[in-house]
Amino acid sequence: MATTTDDYEDGLKTLEELTTNAQQIQEHVLQQILARNAGTEYLSRFINGQTDKQCFKTKVPIVTYEDVKPYIDRIADGETSNILLTEPVVEFHMSTGTSGGLPKLMPVTAEIHDQTALYFTLLRSLMIKQFGDLDKTGKRLALFFAKPETETASGIKKRTVLTSMLKDPETRTAILKLYTSPIEAVFCSDNNQSMFCQLLIGLIQRDEVVSVGSTFATVVLRAIKFLEDHYEELCSNIKTGQLSDWITDSGCRNVVSLILKPNPELAESIQTICSCKSWEGILKKLWPKAKLIDAITTGSMSQYAETLEFYGGGLSIVSTVYICSEAVCGINLEPLSKPFDVSYTFLPNMAYFEFLPVKNDGATMSEQIQLNGGPVDLVNVRPGQYYELLVTTFAGLYRYKVGDILMVTGFHNNAPQFRFVERQNIILSVDTDKTSESDLVKAVTEAKTLLESFGFILRWYTSYADTSSIPGHYVIFWELMVKEGDDDTKVLDPMMMAECCSKMEESLSLIYKTYRKENSIAALEIRVVKQGSSEALMDYYVSQGAALNQYKGSTCIKSNDAIKILDSRVIAKFFSSKKSMY
Ligand code: AMP
Repeated sequence: MATTTDDYEDGLKTLEELTTNAQQIQEHVLQQILARNAGTEYLSRFINGQTDKQCFKTKVPIVTYEDVKPYIDRIADGETSNILLTEPVVEFHMSTGTSGGLPKLMPVTAEIHDQTALYFTLLRSLMIKQFGDLDKTGKRLALFFAKPETETASGIKKRTVLTSMLKDPETRTAILKLYTSPIEAVFCSDNNQSMFCQLLIGLIQRDEVVSVGSTFATVVLRAIKFLEDHYEELCSNIKTGQLSDWITDSGCRNVVSLILKPNPELAESIQTICSCKSWEGILKKLWPKAKLIDAITTGSMSQYAETLEFYGGGLSIVSTVYICSEAVCGINLEPLSKPFDVSYTFLPNMAYFEFLPVKNDGATMSEQIQLNGGPVDLVNVRPGQYYELLVTTFAGLYRYKVGDILMVTGFHNNAPQFRFVERQNIILSVDTDKTSESDLVKAVTEAKTLLESFGFILRWYTSYADTSSIPGHYVIFWELMVKEGDDDTKVLDPMMMAECCSKMEESLSLIYKTYRKENSIAALEIRVVKQGSSEALMDYYVSQGAALNQYKGSTCIKSNDAIKILDSRVIAKFFSSKKSMY
């Protein structure tokens, strides 16, 4: 975070060196990891102290979290970390991976913190190159929500990557200087109070804000919805200089009292902007100096890209990084690429990366078949090919399946660039049909083009396979909003909605369509839900322990409680009626 305009070129130079020497760096990283850890209880089962690459590749198995969990649990319970890695474990990062699953614990060493710091330096250099040094001209409005940390039985901290970063003294100093949100609000345990105060302070400093963002696009959209629901109250606070009584968190109250002074003029201008019929471009209107929306909008987040564009009013939407609790993987060298064109260039010094080729049948990803030949090294991947990512880290993961599918789009020097395709295993299936996340994204993208001519925008969607009746069917929840202004009286045309259902079906796999024809799958259903349903679902997952900043939403939900929440908000149901043509 300490990069300045003057030394940002050093960061760019480092990026060039890393990507040019990708192969040598990868070999070195693996050698270092093996030299340190070949004698651990875990690795010696397979390689018995040997450190050569060939031995590693032939003997160390490819694993999932379940395979290493017993070791991680033993460390969490107080055994020495030596059973898995020689470096001391300083904390555990809690990974959600998908929002539905239980958090996984990822060991973290001091070296991982240094790597993350290096990544931020590189990222800042890239941002300065693209946008100039925005930090010299203003502050960033970044909606962060730290999650309280807990401890393992042996007293090792368990926290999210973001919370860990926010606890770091250097980051805290940077937040104070570079961000509008005060650390007290970021650490407030009540997400609503935190959101209110972060937006309030962001609005008070609206003429200084140079970027708006969060970790993932979902959080930015949640903030916009919150603003819609609370702008009058926020304006009244600004007008009177009095903070609402329901903000009871003392940290929030103290910090807001330092900034909040009666300012009727500012309140009036915000009120005028927010009372506008259409919220198109609202972010740009509220924060006129902002240049970008900084939030990941790739992968399962890509469904939000269009809505963000609508609210952004021309602001660039920047997805900077492909990162998991397991490792920092890639960085976006072209911050201005459109969400659907973003590729992440892998950083060869962050971990040893391998790639399991998976077959893509061309039209859909429903048939992900592992190809022969085993995993390939970072520099040996082929453009156009799909791969499943494996990582071997400095922190005790060896040939570990992250669970993500990536596609090679090209190279920068000798380092490959990947498009994030999908989280594996997020599929709809009622029979032996298999619909992957990207299949669903494609089907919805095609169907929603029909909505546009009727003046609606698809704000959010998710899905589940309803097998409560026979035959089962796909249910897609749609949250719609009216394009121009908020004319709530606009009525959905049933024919158009049935057509949307059919269009989705048409886009699905041949197997799906065959089963539909044979009546093994019933008609696809769209359930239109009330505005605010995506936030209601997010609230539910947060109440179940998910961290707000790690919440990625999901294009498919499995939890019965989550389905019940959405079902209680359904305002209309529509079915596909075109079975005969399949
Ligand atoms: P977590 O460990 O809980 O932070 O989740 C990491 C997962 O988030 C990754 O394995 C990906 O599935 C997803 N993810 C992270 N970065 C991106 C990105 N830039 N685009 C799409 N998905 C991402």
